[in-house]
Amino acid sequence: MLDKCYIIPVQNTCTCDCTFCISKSRNYDKKDEFLKVDNKFIENIQLLKKRNIRKFEITGGGEPLIHPDFEVIVSTIKRIIPDSYIKIYTNGFILKTIEGIDEVNLSLVSNNDEINNTFMNPKNNIPFNQRIMYFRKNYPLSKLRLSIPLIKGGIDNIEKLDALIKNTNQIVDEYVVRTLYPHSLIYNDSYVEFPINNKKVIYEKDNDVSDFDGLILWSDNKFYKDFNLDKKRYLYGYLLLKPDSSIYINEIEKIIKDSNLKVIKRYLINNFDMKALQFYQEKDNNYKLIIQNHINNLVYLFGNNAVIYILDGNYSYQELLEEIYNLKLEIRKQLGFTEKEHGYILKNDNISHVNLCHCPDPIMSLFERDLSTIEELSKREISRSDQKVLKKHRSYYL
Ligand code: SF4
Repeated sequence: MLDKCYIIPVQNTCTCDCTFCISKSRNYDKKDEFLKVDNKFIENIQLLKKRNIRKFEITGGGEPLIHPDFEVIVSTIKRIIPDSYIKIYTNGFILKTIEGIDEVNLSLVSNNDEINNTFMNPKNNIPFNQRIMYFRKNYPLSKLRLSIPLIKGGIDNIEKLDALIKNTNQIVDEYVVRTLYPHSLIYNDSYVEFPINNKKVIYEKDNDVSDFDGLILWSDNKFYKDFNLDKKRYLYGYLLLKPDSSIYINEIEKIIKDSNLKVIKRYLINNFDMKALQFYQEKDNNYKLIIQNHINNLVYLFGNNAVIYILDGNYSYQELLEEIYNLKLEIRKQLGFTEKEHGYILKNDNISHVNLCHCPDPIMSLFERDLSTIEELSKREISRSDQKVLKKHRSYYL
């Protein structure tokens, strides 16, 4: 369920230099250092509203409170999505009060300042008691949590954790305690874990963030699905009309028009056979062979053109995928041959169904990969003259 968005306002810049910082093990150099609070940002938040995203986690990258327009980031989210829940993660060494924050997570390794600072290396030393009191006093309505990585030499046994909780639980609402992330540079030397059973503690043990699959708005104002920034996350849906659907283009357009979905862009692809395989879910080589044959057959019989509709609607992410999936089924039901007796092509002992269109399977969640594939394809937007031709096109039946 995609209902939360991580926002990274600052890519790397920080007032600390923590030995356990996960950002050190990643290469973020190519992106913007600070999120621009511009029209693109506003559009992104409006899109998130439409996708029913209400939970926001503003974190690093670097230290969020270093961002010069941090207040504007928060107030923009709250203005567009008044019922949003905004939590921030901060090292607490910048004493700044921001309206609209629902939850503050303060990072620390130890409540002993000397020990803490050997791990966090802050540029300005503000004692732990002063930091924690500042955030309690200036964020009176926010939930206050301490975020504690377990590190050998820091909080490395239950007695130390109990002592920290005993000293702070009058003002702290919750504790998030986690073992070191596997890719942290000091993981091998400093990993420590011990059993914890305390109602105020949320314990995250061996949380491997490398397999994260969520929604991140990075400092370059683009959406990604993981913290390695390998895969973009698209918040629109698509429908791919394969070459065999060209004879029904007008009928299909009418079915789309009658649906609750809105076409926001149309692309013509003229090299369908080159990249089409990437529209299909990852399966074994046998399956790929079958699909490649299917693609070759379609191209042989119907040409190498395909059309992609980028679709939008007032839906959450999951609902949008389901709506498009149902649209695909409707088109296939009304016009396709998939379930009909002669709805296949037999060539070189290979059977291919003629099923007109493809779209992401919401269960398989291939949506993002499919659309990043589109970006790499030789494609162009459908021109006005194309549209004229399409309108004149007379559909006929095989
Ligand atoms: S405070 Fe956070 S972002 Fe800054 S160096 Fe430490 S772990 Fe990294």
